[in-house]
Amino acid sequence: MLTATEMRFCATCQRDTNHIVVLVDKSYGKQVKPEQRRKEFFKDFVTGWAAGPFLANMDRFARHSICENCGTKVIDE
Ligand SMILES: [Zn+2]
Repeated sequence: MLTATEMRFCATCQRDTNHIVVLVDKSYGKQVKPEQRRKEFFKDFVTGWAAGPFLANMDRFARHSICENCGTKVIDE
């Protein structure tokens, strides 16, 4: 699991606050057959080539942002 902090707008606080950002792998815990894994890899490769690594990662991870001020969690998928 990857974590970071960033400033972003909190709808509850109505201002920019520091947020803990956790990237949660959507495929975590799922059983993947080797054949599917190869296909996924190829898809990721093509996606990464077309849209850049950042967007490819966005597709794979859900971003959980937790406001340090009020504890509100926002999930970007
Ligand atoms: Zn907040």
